[in-house]
Amino acid sequence: MRKIAIIGAGESGAQLALGLQRDGFAVTLLSDRSAAQIRTGKVMSSQCMFPTALDAEAQMGTALTGFYESGSVPGITSIRLRVDADEPIEWEAPLDGPARSIDQRIKSALWIETFVAAGGDFRIEKVTPRMLEELAHDYELVIVSTGKGEIGQIFPRDKAKSPFDRPQRVLALNYVTPDGGAAAGSSAAGTGGGGDAIRMSMVPGVGEFFTFPGLTVSGPCRMMVFEGVVGGPMDRWTDVGTPEEQLERSLGILREHFPHEAENFSGAELTDDGATLLGRITPTVRSAVGELGNGKLVFGLGDAVVLNDPLTGQGSNNATLAAKYYLDAIVRRGRQPFDRSWMERTFDEFWRGWGQWAVEWTNDLLKPRRDHQKTLLSEAADHPALAASIVSGFDDPRTSYPWWFDSAAAADFMQARKEEDTSVFDVRDFRSALGQYATGVTVVTTVAADGRKVGLTANSFTSVSMEPPLVLWCPSKRAPSLGDFEDATHFAINILASDQHVLSRQFATPATDKFAGAETTEGIAGVPLLNGAVATFQCRTVSRHDAGDHVIYVGEVESYKHDGGAPLVFHAGKYHATASHPDF
Ligand SMILES: Cc1cc2nc3c(=O)[nH]c(=O)nc-3n(C[C@H](O)[C@H](O)[C@H](O)COP(=O)(O)OP(=O)(O)OC[C@H]3O[C@@H](n4cnc5c(N)ncnc54)[C@H](O)[C@@H]3O)c2cc1C
Repeated sequence: MRKIAIIGAGESGAQLALGLQRDGFAVTLLSDRSAAQIRTGKVMSSQCMFPTALDAEAQMGTALTGFYESGSVPGITSIRLRVDADEPIEWEAPLDGPARSIDQRIKSALWIETFVAAGGDFRIEKVTPRMLEELAHDYELVIVSTGKGEIGQIFPRDKAKSPFDRPQRVLALNYVTPDGGAAAGSSAAGTGGGGDAIRMSMVPGVGEFFTFPGLTVSGPCRMMVFEGVVGGPMDRWTDVGTPEEQLERSLGILREHFPHEAENFSGAELTDDGATLLGRITPTVRSAVGELGNGKLVFGLGDAVVLNDPLTGQGSNNATLAAKYYLDAIVRRGRQPFDRSWMERTFDEFWRGWGQWAVEWTNDLLKPRRDHQKTLLSEAADHPALAASIVSGFDDPRTSYPWWFDSAAAADFMQARKEEDTSVFDVRDFRSALGQYATGVTVVTTVAADGRKVGLTANSFTSVSMEPPLVLWCPSKRAPSLGDFEDATHFAINILASDQHVLSRQFATPATDKFAGAETTEGIAGVPLLNGAVATFQCRTVSRHDAGDHVIYVGEVESYKHDGGAPLVFHAGKYHATASHPDF
């Protein structure tokens, strides 16, 4: 049994420990606090988990489904955004699925107790660099998931990925009674008026306030998060002594800068003695490999190596997804050593597949809005499909690329979303209905005229004819690589294996080098073929057919191979693995 030590039993460490325990690893979990101390301690976060991260929890077996099923954790189904400007902007758009916030004091404590109940080795230790050396000597892999804890300093700061060298916001967090003391029927009261929405208000140059419902140690609650621009009018917490003073100062800030919210919290009371938090965070990405005095290596996870400002609520989501990436990589490693190159590859996979998008999007939102972003936000008030796309970034920040960052891409994107408003059907709903058809996942590759490797994820692949051997796939007319496919004589369909979900995400997201880390072999006409695919079809384009907003590409198969193995399956917007039907 492989021996793994995990330091820190928070969002990432506790979930990874449980996932590894379930997969038969001998895990030692070390935490500076017991489950009881965590439960009765101070709040740490507002931890709103969006659907993609909730799905990762479910896959790791760490979802606290009992709370969801009992209805004690409200499902947050939309985001309502308000921006103070000459012409104030206000709109609300649905999330792709419900988001949920369970106090980390409940989650971490329960995860630790579950780990211990299943026979896990749990130790209460505040781990020091010296102890790390001993652990790294005794264990095959030591993972440091200590969040903002000091010990994370052993991982060198990655300057290229960390554009800020100081905090951009001053944070204050309060957990208050569920209706914020507001009168029944008002927007904070939980019914109508967006009660189950994240309400986010932005005042340029001043800061942001957001609020949403959740579950805390004393029952239902509402979180109030203040993000004040450093040195700005909301940066006034230093003289606050007690939690009650913090609440009072919070209400004053609401009255002054977010008056539309003030009334909703007029009777707010703190939920418990630990219901407040103050702080400031320098967004920092670190190298995930830490070298100790004795030459041994430790591997960083979660906030210890990818620390975001909470403005976009990505931290816990990021930590959960990182835990899932690491879990999969550890299981795939078999008996091979957890050496430096494995650590670097594993982190890089997570960074390219998820982390970088969460970080860059969050860092961008900390800066003043650029003109095209102001236009996106204001146009969203009249165009629900555009508003829904902006909101999707909270669940999956990759979807904000490239249009959030680039003015030309923003104009194109806005046009496409506006067209959706006049579509015959509600496009999201139509897409969901089509998503009921389970498919495999392919990456279609070609080589551009200038020799660049080109690839994109597609599930529109279909076999067409046996004689001649024809297949088809359908790229969108808006696909940035469409011109490259038009110029090329050949393309290849690479049918992904179950363990290639990382590649599926990678090729579905714009990047300067989508092939980074992907092993390829050169095929006909120089087309790159992805190693490890369950089947590959090398095709010569024989016809293209105009089909609405897509093009149908028909290719004659000139060569194919199939190595077998489990394919990756896509159904209802999620990845699946195949299993034999129990009836057959
Ligand atoms: C005000 C605020 C609001 C936030 N809101 C959101 C939100 O809405 N959505 C979201 O996704 N994220 C949010 N976050 C971020 C989120 O809380 C973190 O990103 C997430 O908890 C990171 O998980 P982690 O596993 O890396 O670290 P943590 O969850 O912080 O866990 C680290 C654990 O390590 C322990 N530890 C530390 N040092 C040691 C040591 N030396 N030895 C042993 N144990 C140690 C700590 O006690 C802790 O239990 C928010 C953060 C703040 C501050």
